[in-house]
Amino acid sequence: MTEHTARGVTWDLTDLYGSPADPRIDADLERLQADALAFETCWRGHISGKHNHGIQAAELITLLSQLEEIWQGAGVLSAFSYLIFAADTANPAHGALLTRVRERLTDLRSHLLFVELEWAALPEATARPLLDDPRLARFRHHLIRERDFTPHRRSEAEEIILDQKTNTGSQAFARLFDETLARARFTVTLEAGPKEMSEQEALALLANPDRPTRKAAADALTAGLAELAPLLIFIYNTLIADHSTDTRIRSFGGPMAERNLANEISQGAVDSLMTSCERALPMVADYYRIKGRLLGLEPLYDYDRYAPLVGGGEIPFSEARKIVLESFGAFSPRMAEIAHMFFENRWIDAETRPGKRGGAFAHPVTPSRHPFVLMNYLGHPRDVMTLAHELGHGIHQWLARERGYFGSSTPLTTAETASVFGEMLVFSTLRRKLAGTPEALPLLCGKLEDTFSTVFRQVVMTRFEQAAHAARATEGELTGERLNALWMEVNRPMFGDALHLRDDYANWWSYIPHFIHTPFYCYAYAFGELLVLALYARYLEEGETFVPRYLELLAGGGSDRPEALLKCAGVDIGAPGFWDGGLAVIRSWVDEARELGVPARTG
Ligand SMILES: [Zn+2]
Repeated sequence: MTEHTARGVTWDLTDLYGSPADPRIDADLERLQADALAFETCWRGHISGKHNHGIQAAELITLLSQLEEIWQGAGVLSAFSYLIFAADTANPAHGALLTRVRERLTDLRSHLLFVELEWAALPEATARPLLDDPRLARFRHHLIRERDFTPHRRSEAEEIILDQKTNTGSQAFARLFDETLARARFTVTLEAGPKEMSEQEALALLANPDRPTRKAAADALTAGLAELAPLLIFIYNTLIADHSTDTRIRSFGGPMAERNLANEISQGAVDSLMTSCERALPMVADYYRIKGRLLGLEPLYDYDRYAPLVGGGEIPFSEARKIVLESFGAFSPRMAEIAHMFFENRWIDAETRPGKRGGAFAHPVTPSRHPFVLMNYLGHPRDVMTLAHELGHGIHQWLARERGYFGSSTPLTTAETASVFGEMLVFSTLRRKLAGTPEALPLLCGKLEDTFSTVFRQVVMTRFEQAAHAARATEGELTGERLNALWMEVNRPMFGDALHLRDDYANWWSYIPHFIHTPFYCYAYAFGELLVLALYARYLEEGETFVPRYLELLAGGGSDRPEALLKCAGVDIGAPGFWDGGLAVIRSWVDEARELGVPARTG
């Protein structure tokens, strides 16, 4: 029944291309190739000043505008091939198209790479006047960012080799991981007998009200992952080693350095975020003690972590749509208008299907087009939050289009701002509606558990990655037992004695896609969540006047440093104790859950 709640909610990719066999795909690949060659012939040597007396601002604008055009075209091809693959990874035509487009675009990039390299190598005295030129304002932040990476760039020939080998290296392993988990079937032994399920379906059962069902799903995941272990362990070891090779070749100071630089955040700031969260960690155990009492299950086990407090009705997709639009609209009609387009124009793929990629994402495509959202909607309250989350991303991507190809995308740290803010808006609407009813407590607990997942769980996952990368560097290839031990070591302190992690939980690191696709991504979620709590506090304080500033923050995209954009919205992330503000809000929710839980217990 559950899987039917979003049945038929699929996206329409024909805005991009008709099908993987659309002849326009090859025509566009050919045209882009020709454009790139013409661009190279025209501009190579111009930035470096090899063929002239140094590039002038007006020429640099023309160059960047032409480059932007080429990348937008490439972006559409790349988006289409990825989106159609994500929607059905089992279709061999999709995998083949994805690979073909990637290979062609890698070749394309090899003709354009000289721009970054010549720009990055330009002496400061030559680059500075260009950066200060108001005519180049639209490209300024991008140009500054490119130069941040100067010390880590290799020669053009080396860059081309590195880029080309990625397709058969890390990218290939990441795809193998995706396909393996998309194909994997987990045998969940329910009362009615064993049932084959996808990873997503089995994970969803962890929120089932029935304890034996949750345990059966957890057991199936453990057993299924154990079966895949040799492959998953090999993939992860390979990717850690690949990452370490990159770190060494590019002279980054450590495994996190490249991510931090891309995130425009210092290791010091990341450490301060992580240690602030770790200091606040005891509230997780406090909460699970309350939850154990409320459920009458003491002790709780790992498979009880997401147990709902009441049966929790199924929410059809149409209802989720209403809730999200209403919540966004109460904050800003403009936000609701944009979200509305996603539903009306079929920019969302929400139904679950075999072969469809798990999880959820919003893909910006390119500023010349529009974003798409993918999720696997099963009708749980958490899925409504996911919808709000991905639409938050989509709205951000839509608003930031104005900044053009080079200025629209944000670093990961602020990439989660709009998504988590979107969730916060839905939470507040539901909270108002349910105040004083028996559903208020489950709603609050659901929000708390989600917040724990985005803050503390992500910090724990980052600690795991740090430990795994460090261990791989000193101990060589890691065994499954070693990785399992590292996983348990970082997870145990989160729950204290309030929730018992069985040894079965030890291999649950092995399905997390972020470890594979984007090492050290996870702390950005904690950053985003705590940042949003601060922004939301601003909104409560300021009311209406905050709204346009918030939308402006989103429309700013990645056109300036996150700190600078946030300052305009009234938030100073460098202030001492900044992270403690958001953590205090979460703490207050735990206290509220305790109070709300008292009458439930005695009455
Ligand atoms: Zn997100």
